[in-house]
Amino acid sequence: MEKLQDKFGREINYLRLSVTDRCNLRCTYCMPERGLKFAPKQTLLTYEELLDLADMLGGVGINKIRITGGEPFVRADLMGFLERLSAKPFLEKISITSNLTLIRPHLANLLKLGIKDINVSLDSLEKEKFHEITRRDEFEEVEQTLNEMIDRGFNLKINCVVMAGTNEDQVLALLQLAEKHPVSVRFLEEMPFNGSGEELGRTLDYKSILGIISENYEYTKLIDEPSSTSQNYHIEGFAGNFGVIPSFSRTFCGDCNRLRLSATGEVRTCLYGQNQLNLRDLLRGGSSEEEIQAALKEAVLKKPKDGFAAADENEKIYLSMTKLGG
Ligand code: SAM
Ligand code: SF4
Repeated sequence: MEKLQDKFGREINYLRLSVTDRCNLRCTYCMPERGLKFAPKQTLLTYEELLDLADMLGGVGINKIRITGGEPFVRADLMGFLERLSAKPFLEKISITSNLTLIRPHLANLLKLGIKDINVSLDSLEKEKFHEITRRDEFEEVEQTLNEMIDRGFNLKINCVVMAGTNEDQVLALLQLAEKHPVSVRFLEEMPFNGSGEELGRTLDYKSILGIISENYEYTKLIDEPSSTSQNYHIEGFAGNFGVIPSFSRTFCGDCNRLRLSATGEVRTCLYGQNQLNLRDLLRGGSSEEEIQAALKEAVLKKPKDGFAAADENEKIYLSMTKLGG
């Protein structure tokens, strides 16, 4: 079977796979405090279904998977699933995005499975501000876990959503993590995917974020990996690096290699775009592997050129990131 390729010649080999839409935090940029309706259990893809779909996706060229959510570790027996997923020979890399509140008991097993690449959400190194942003009191657990993961040698990318009037003052504080440790600290623009249907109007663009840093440091540009969402930089004497992710300015769409699968089976070829098809419905409706792969190829052919074209098709329906496969 041919690999997934869109009409702009982009090869799609990277899946962001959401295993749940639930989370134990309530980050203001991601979810409303209350009122979000979570998917009933029977509508979630089961682990068996996810493993079958992984094979089908592997058959059309997916070789990297990032597990996300909601918070992936909220889902029962995630480690059992990861153990089976990591045995798939076509997967070159499995990585995880996590808020670090529930991952600590699993660190040794993750390393055993070869899962070392973890993206961490951390928007503040101040306990009160962390609480203000996440609406939960988990700072100490996250801080301890982060330190343990650094000590254990995980490859960490620490992601901070920078919001005007909320946590710009954390940019330099978080940057110090990269001064002391071999981690990458990345600053993201806020996107409107907060589940409230409204843009919160506090997005700080990547140039402003770089401006905060350049007032204090000189930095040099690094060569970014192909299809990277981040522009990466190094400051002399730092153990790690930093980056900015223009997630709202959408400067990185040109060589996008990503596909998203939500916990309920929805496929999105762009975060800003519409749901293109539902793999759970196809699977449960008895579609064959070939039929599912053909449906995926068709969806990928409709992948919009960039996040602006996708948003135009999508009529500004701003779901929570937890529903999109963050
Ligand atoms: N719960 C995990 C976590 O927070 O790392 C994984 C899921 S979370 C939806 C994935 C990523 O999306 C996090 O890095 C989070 O900061 C980011 N995110 C969520 N909502 C966002 C928004 N409105 N704008 C920018 N980034 C957002
Ligand atoms: Fe939960 Fe991650 Fe969303 Fe925060 S960003 S509410 S941790 S899913």
